[in-house]
Amino acid sequence: MSQRDRSELRTARRWVVKVGSALLTADGRRLDHGVIHGLVQQLVKLRERGCEVVLVSSGAVAAGVVRLGFDERPGDLHSLQAAAAVGQSALIRSYEEALAPQGITPALVLLSHADIRARDRYLNARGTLGRLLELGVIPVVNENDSVVTDEIRFGDNDTLAALVANLVDAEVLLVLTDRDGLYRGNPDSDPDAVLVPSAEVDDARLDQMVSGGGRFGRGGMITKLSAARLAARSGALTVIANGRAPDVVRRVASGEEVGTLLSTQRRPQSARKQWLASLLHEHGSLVLDDGAAAMLATGGKSLLPIGVTSVTGDFVRGDLVACVDAGGRQVARGLVNYSAAEARKLVGLASHLIPEVLGYGGDAEIIHCDNMVSL
Ligand code: GLU
Repeated sequence: MSQRDRSELRTARRWVVKVGSALLTADGRRLDHGVIHGLVQQLVKLRERGCEVVLVSSGAVAAGVVRLGFDERPGDLHSLQAAAAVGQSALIRSYEEALAPQGITPALVLLSHADIRARDRYLNARGTLGRLLELGVIPVVNENDSVVTDEIRFGDNDTLAALVANLVDAEVLLVLTDRDGLYRGNPDSDPDAVLVPSAEVDDARLDQMVSGGGRFGRGGMITKLSAARLAARSGALTVIANGRAPDVVRRVASGEEVGTLLSTQRRPQSARKQWLASLLHEHGSLVLDDGAAAMLATGGKSLLPIGVTSVTGDFVRGDLVACVDAGGRQVARGLVNYSAAEARKLVGLASHLIPEVLGYGGDAEIIHCDNMVSL
């Protein structure tokens, strides 16, 4: 298998850029609008190269702590959640103000891990983010801290960023932090500590490195390494770099050796198909007419209601279903956009009639090609 390297960063199109609280705050508490402005300028330039950018940003808690007049970051979870709820509007406003002169709008998308792991919500979130990117908007994703506490407790959005990279099929996850990257040794105490320029993400020696050096706990290198491994599931390369370094986004995107590249052998497209293929439990099946069966067998095409002749089983939106030909042979499987009850109503129907039959507009496809694997 060929080694993937930094040259791929030059042609990568879809990026998830993650910025943590340590970077966005002036003193660990209030938002540093100068840093946000500088970051936004860099993301705009990345877009000018033809890239699509989803930003995963922390900073709500830090902003909220100031607004609520707390002297320091509170220790209890509900106060942190309250601070996040108060601070989120300040955070998105800061992005809005920085993007306004460029004529670009940010969109606030609050997600939880469960939203991405449950496949019905996965389809919805994926659809929304995809549409936002088509519309030229920069989605700013944060954890929905009012209702979940995963990132407040452990990750400072590292894991969320990786899940978003899986969700949008990003080619690159760029984790911007207040460190230059991943070190062999602890740069705080060991003058001989050396920056690791690149490594294979599954290399077991990395576990040793992150536990020996760098920050422990919330948002430290341990969570960044596991985020890189999660991102690799869908084939994304991860770069961990210092968000305070001048021009860091452009330098990473130009393939310069900055930060730490954590590479994976898995390619984005095939990794996604493998993941779909590994979802073992099929909840039902769609029987296809000959035309649709032939089309799906070759791959790359969505399944429309008009190609379906009957529906078996009981499933909900987001479940895995089999696509079988008239003889019962499975030709593909995928995540279905409609429940079994809805799908039964749509059998043989032209897609433009879906709103009339169901009483609401939905996806034109029963299974979108992105969510399907041919067998
Ligand atoms: N989602 C949180 C935020 O935006 C995570 C960071 C934290 O716990 O400080 O602030």
